[in-house]
Amino acid sequence: MGNYPSHQFFSGSIEVVCGPMFSGKTEELIRRVRRAQIARQKVQIFKPAIDDRYHDTNVVSHSSLEVEAVAVGSSIDILKKLYDTTRIVAIDEVQFFDENIIAVVQKLARRGIRVICAGLDQDYRGRAFGPMPELLCIADMVNKVSAICTVCGSPATKSFRKITTDENQVLVGETDVYEARCRTHFDYVAEGEEELLAFTVAIKSDEQGELNL
Ligand code: ADP
Ligand code: MG
Repeated sequence: MGNYPSHQFFSGSIEVVCGPMFSGKTEELIRRVRRAQIARQKVQIFKPAIDDRYHDTNVVSHSSLEVEAVAVGSSIDILKKLYDTTRIVAIDEVQFFDENIIAVVQKLARRGIRVICAGLDQDYRGRAFGPMPELLCIADMVNKVSAICTVCGSPATKSFRKITTDENQVLVGETDVYEARCRTHFDYVAEGEEELLAFTVAIKSDEQGELNL
């Protein structure tokens, strides 16, 4: 077969599934994990320790699908807890990880591991969430999934926070705190609550006045 480096036959990859809350990111991660398990490939699933909504360790979807996972405090812990035999690493709620997650997933992929990441692309104000922009850029495959807008039933790409008293980017919650919304119904409420959400993105240009933005 020639003098090809062996890693060419065990090529690693980075897959990212992103979208708003309730869009089926965790369901899709679990679907990919289950298929890999059927193929008898060794899979390890990680999630940030911060997300304890349903279970201390397991990854659980809103529709109650569940797989066993390891909760880790930092992205480096993923490398520390990795088994030699692992072929696939799945990471849920990847947006909560620190910036080292980029180097960690690159390292894993270079080792020949298939890395499957699922995470929120935007926070409750529609801003890019944590390491997601870079992760999406370095990914080999990206799937952006949508939920259903709770107001009109259209595809929803935004996570609307119903509680306006807490402005921290991270507020772990469920349907008590968040709703999936389409752009129209996300913008509409954000405009109405402009002071609370400080939603509008400033356009930096000297022409701003002339353009009437
Ligand atoms: P995510 O990880 O993206 O938050 P999950 O995979 O945990 O989403 O859950 C997706 C499931 O959530 C759907 O299959 C559906 O059963 C349920 N669900 C609840 N509210 C909505 C909604 N507004 N739009 C779509 N699915 C919803
Ligand atoms: Mg999820």
